[in-house]
Amino acid sequence: MSTTLAIRGGRVIDPANGVDAIADVLIAEGRIAAVGPDAGRDASQTIDASGLIICPGFVDIHCHLREPGFEHKETIATGTLAAARGGFTTICAMPNTEPPIDSAGMIEFILRTAQSQGAVRVLPIACVTRGRAGRELADLAELAQAGAVAFSDDGAPVACRSSPHAPSARVRGHAGRARHQPLRRPLPLGRWSHARRLGLDPPWSSWRSHRG
Ligand SMILES: [Zn+2]
Repeated sequence: MSTTLAIRGGRVIDPANGVDAIADVLIAEGRIAAVGPDAGRDASQTIDASGLIICPGFVDIHCHLREPGFEHKETIATGTLAAARGGFTTICAMPNTEPPIDSAGMIEFILRTAQSQGAVRVLPIACVTRGRAGRELADLAELAQAGAVAFSDDGAPVACRSSPHAPSARVRGHAGRARHQPLRRPLPLGRWSHARRLGLDPPWSSWRSHRG
C-alpha cells in the first residue's frame, strides 16, 4: 500500500478552485489526491494544521538568484531553498547575473542548474538587451524558445529605440549582418523595467516596475 500524507483540519484557501473552507488535503504519490472534510481520515501519515492556512504553492514573479557571478550573495540552490521555506513553489529568476541571461546558453544553464540543484521550479527571465546594456535588443525569439518566460533589464533602463510594444527579433540578413526585424506575432511574454524610476510617460510606464 502506498504512503499517503494528510494535512488535516487547516483552512484551505484555493482561489483557482473557489475553495475557502476548513478541510483536509490528502497527498498520494506526491500529488494532491483529495481535498475535503475528513479526506485525510485514513492517511498513513498526518500533519495537524488546525489554526493554520493551507494554500497552493506561491509564485514569485520577480526574484534574484545571483548565480552565476554573485554566488557569495546567493545561489540557485540556496535561493530555491529559501523559496521553498517561504511556501513558493515557482520562482522567476531575473537576468542581472554575470554574465547576464541574454543568450540561449545562459537560459539552459539556469534551467539545468535549477533541475539538478534547485528545490522549486525556476522560470528564467531573460534580458531585453544584449549584455543588459540597454542598447541592442537581445534575440528575444531565441530566448523565448530556450525557455525565457519574460524579459527585463532589471536594474538598468532600456535606451533602445525599438518600441516595447512592437518587439523585434535580431536576425541574420542575407549578408550575414545583424538587423532588426519585427516579429510576426508579439511574444506572449511579460516585460519588466525600471521605467518609473526614469519618470517616462506611457507606453513605457505600462511596463512592470519595481524599486529593488
Ligand atoms: Zn529586481
